[in-house]
Amino acid sequence: QKEEWAKLVNEKTLTKDGAHVELAANIGTPKDLDGVIANGAEGIGLYRTEFLYMGRNELPSEEEQFEAYKEVVERMENKPVVIRTLDIGGDKELPYLDLPEELNPFLGFRAIRLCLEQQDLFRVQLRALLRASAYGNLKIMFPMIATLEELRSAKQLLSEEKDKLLAEGVKVAEEMEVGIMVEIPSTAVAAPQFAKEVDFFSIGTNDLIQYTMAADRMNERVSYLYQPYHPAVLRLIDMVIKAAHAEGKWTGMCGEMAGDEIAIPLLLGLGLDEFSMSATSILPARSQLTHLSREELADFAQQALMEDTSEAVEQLVTKHYSIG
Ligand code: PEP
Ligand code: MG
Repeated sequence: QKEEWAKLVNEKTLTKDGAHVELAANIGTPKDLDGVIANGAEGIGLYRTEFLYMGRNELPSEEEQFEAYKEVVERMENKPVVIRTLDIGGDKELPYLDLPEELNPFLGFRAIRLCLEQQDLFRVQLRALLRASAYGNLKIMFPMIATLEELRSAKQLLSEEKDKLLAEGVKVAEEMEVGIMVEIPSTAVAAPQFAKEVDFFSIGTNDLIQYTMAADRMNERVSYLYQPYHPAVLRLIDMVIKAAHAEGKWTGMCGEMAGDEIAIPLLLGLGLDEFSMSATSILPARSQLTHLSREELADFAQQALMEDTSEAVEQLVTKHYSIG
């Protein structure tokens, strides 16, 4: 098996029926790139920038951020690199921001909510990202988007900073895709509206599952409710992919579910375009995908959406694909 995987390192990911899907990696710092390259990722589907801000006493400067983003896009040699703007709050704290404690941090002041209020902090990151965009194939992604107003505000700040940089004579990529994480049910349900105003979606199942099932992803007492294969979760995923495709946009997934061997046949059948996962999952996933046909799985995936329970979905997949 290891030998089969090794042969796939420099290959594109082609399904049995010749469809190309992109297998990308999730990273937290540029240090992760060695593993990403060794495992043959076709891009970065999620760069979690919060680690640049953590484990220190003050905000990282524009220069420091620029260097980190530039290093990542340059080392990926024009392969797509999706960089997510700061997603702090929830389970990730920044003591130096001195934010009041909250009763429900996962439902509170985090990610884009904080960035739109603390605009100075956000603008610095946007400038660093725009500057780095001149050095490779950088795409920006906003986390925890719940409303169109948030998306429009974030895009407005981005375009203001771009204009300022251009006026200063700084190099910025002419075209840069701007997308959002779909990790809040309101955004999945309203995906047709969002799809008109983004270049891509990336489904963040880690949060989408916890918010759909109202089951804290960190709380073991309710972990039995944290069900990636729940038909409700699968239907949301289906809605998001269809909405994107109707507008000619692509959809990726960067939650843990994207690298899960039981989920992969379903996600392929639902038409997912990009799967982003930890680097070590890429070759096993590529090998699995070469044995699956997207065409054949389309009906199968629709059938899964109609199942009653998570367990029924899981049995359906394991039986057909002799997994486990
Ligand atoms: C997610 O929510 O699925 C995701 C990828 O983001 P994070 O795990 O960083 O919240
Ligand atoms: Mg998330």
